[in-house]
Amino acid sequence: MKYVKEFRNPSLVKNMIKKIGSDVEREITIMEVCGTHTMSIFKSGIRDLIPSNIKLISGPGCPVCVTSQAYIDTAIELTKRDDVIITTFGDMLKVPGNNSSLQNEKALGRDIRMVYSPLDSLKIAKENPDREVIFLAVGFETTAPAIALSIKIASEENIKNYSILQSIKTMPETMKQLVLDEDIKIDGFLCPGHVSTVIGAKPYEFLANEFEVPAVIAGFESGDIAIGLYTLIEMIKNNTNEVKNVYSRFVKYEGSEKAISSIYEIFEESDAVWRGLGNISGTGLKLKQKYDSFNAETKLGINLLNDKPIKGCICGDILKGKKNPLQCKLFSKVCNPLNPIGACMVSEEGTCAAYYKYKNIG
Ligand code: SF4
Ligand code: SF4
Repeated sequence: MKYVKEFRNPSLVKNMIKKIGSDVEREITIMEVCGTHTMSIFKSGIRDLIPSNIKLISGPGCPVCVTSQAYIDTAIELTKRDDVIITTFGDMLKVPGNNSSLQNEKALGRDIRMVYSPLDSLKIAKENPDREVIFLAVGFETTAPAIALSIKIASEENIKNYSILQSIKTMPETMKQLVLDEDIKIDGFLCPGHVSTVIGAKPYEFLANEFEVPAVIAGFESGDIAIGLYTLIEMIKNNTNEVKNVYSRFVKYEGSEKAISSIYEIFEESDAVWRGLGNISGTGLKLKQKYDSFNAETKLGINLLNDKPIKGCICGDILKGKKNPLQCKLFSKVCNPLNPIGACMVSEEGTCAAYYKYKNIG
């Protein structure tokens, strides 16, 4: 792709990082909300290069990590039904529930199938008309259009044995909760890149206008992140509260009209339960009444089980940026990618997994 090489040029990036905040004396806390940013920041060494008064904290940006314990336990319970096939993205397989994981249940012979798209689930439903195929609908605004499309097709083609276990979340309102939390002092946000390709820059403007917290939308190359951090710290330094988009090669101010309308044709805003953050109003998507026959909970008459936190795991505080994985007693010795105790160690985008991989611990 044109210009990508420049965004990966190590010496250009290094020079830019060195300039970031070199003339700022006070401590500045920046939250990167997206899990891919967390990984990129580690991979590029930005954490080690940036001046020590610039604190980078990770937020709730990985869809696997923020999925509630209750959701995982409910999905595991559903696998015990012979009339059900569970379909899921691969990352969800390893997430530990209270007593098991989908991967363990699969090894026990439960019918759990990994798919790359909700449309693959529809295909499985067509091939198995006598069984209910339930897709674990986990993700942010990025995955919502494909899930919406699967529901639209299922409705149009009258596929009666397809449903979703809903846990789709939306980002901007969640960032508001983090700003309102007095224990976390966020001076600026690095907004999620992929989510922003769908929703655009506009939905973050309230952060700058109402809460005086500037935000920057940046891409994922080391150069993108360096430009993003530089832009953000310049704004913080100059008390400029705006939302700036330095990822304009993919993100438009208004977002993707097509993707947004495909989401809201099928879904409407709802509350959502986030691991560690609890139930936050306006941060989820649920099927519109018209499509409720594709909602596994109403269709099968089930309720999500109660949340039972995992003993010793501090994923909740990590997702809020209040603690880092090195402060977890289980980190590395007990909890590692081969034996994840909490969700943040499972996903490629999880903060604990990033610390484990790039801090050379283990
Ligand atoms: S889905 Fe995309 S934007 Fe969201 S956390 Fe993952 S990489 Fe970041
Ligand atoms: S290191 Fe493991 S147990 Fe500790 S917070 Fe992270 S995922 Fe949870």
